[in-house]
Amino acid sequence: MDMGLSGLRVAISGAASGIGLEMARHFVAEGARVFIGDADAAALAAVAASDPDIGSAPCDVSNRGSVDGWLRACVATLGGIDCLVNNAGIAGPTGRVEEIAPEDWDRTLAVNITGQFNLTRLAVAHLRKSENPSILNLSSAAGKLGFALRTPYAASKWAVVGYTKSLAKELGPDGIRVNALLPGLVDGPRIQRVFADKAAQKGIRPEEQQALSMAHASVKKLIPQSELATMALYLASRHASTISGQAISVDGDLEALS
Ligand code: NAD
Repeated sequence: MDMGLSGLRVAISGAASGIGLEMARHFVAEGARVFIGDADAAALAAVAASDPDIGSAPCDVSNRGSVDGWLRACVATLGGIDCLVNNAGIAGPTGRVEEIAPEDWDRTLAVNITGQFNLTRLAVAHLRKSENPSILNLSSAAGKLGFALRTPYAASKWAVVGYTKSLAKELGPDGIRVNALLPGLVDGPRIQRVFADKAAQKGIRPEEQQALSMAHASVKKLIPQSELATMALYLASRHASTISGQAISVDGDLEALS
């Protein structure tokens, strides 16, 4: 299927690694023009060297001045924005609620949900000028399920869903589609860190934690990052012109987090 993404101008936050980078590479392969940001300047420099077709500038989504500068650089490079992917996110602390440092709670919310607001509020003016505008907000399976010992992360990712559905209602009449993507247990170094942290809390081995987590999915495999990237391509395309306000799971039918 021709996705019709040639020339689409795509802005992705937190895309110097992981899911965001995979999405950036998939968009470029479809002929889109991509500009990414990330708080990790060294990782961004590595992407600039390995993927010269991907434009980039440093950006901490929790810092409004940084977001403003990044968005200006993005628009100067691409000439506008058709698709914004609010991907930047952190795992936040693992622990019982009474053990969680308030500053860790604040940081998790500041990056995972306020960061999406910081970027969206400035990008909307550019999206309004697009002929095929869309926003994709990264939530998580932890945005629809309870997640013991990860309350800051779960709270932030449930917030992303409420934010997305509200934005979709607000921007739909202007032709801007807004969806949330809810990945499950995604293959890569990040999920291994999550298993290790949770295992340490419970006094078990990381492999045991992985087996416990996988037990709740009917499809017994970690989610390939490419499946999230392919979904992002589809949602940004004209093939998805009536899809908005949705919280879309790519999670192997995960029914609980443990
Ligand atoms: P990752 O850690 O590999 O990549 C996240 C990127 O965001 C990193 O490059 C990091 O430097 C960057 N970042 C962190 N704080 C930032 C900030 N303040 N400003 C800008 N960039 C910042 O993680 P990932 O697995 O690729 O996750 C991407 C998104 O998907 C996140 O929102 C995450 O919550 C979500 N998600 C991931 C999984 C998973 O299993 N990997 C599951 C569900 C949801």
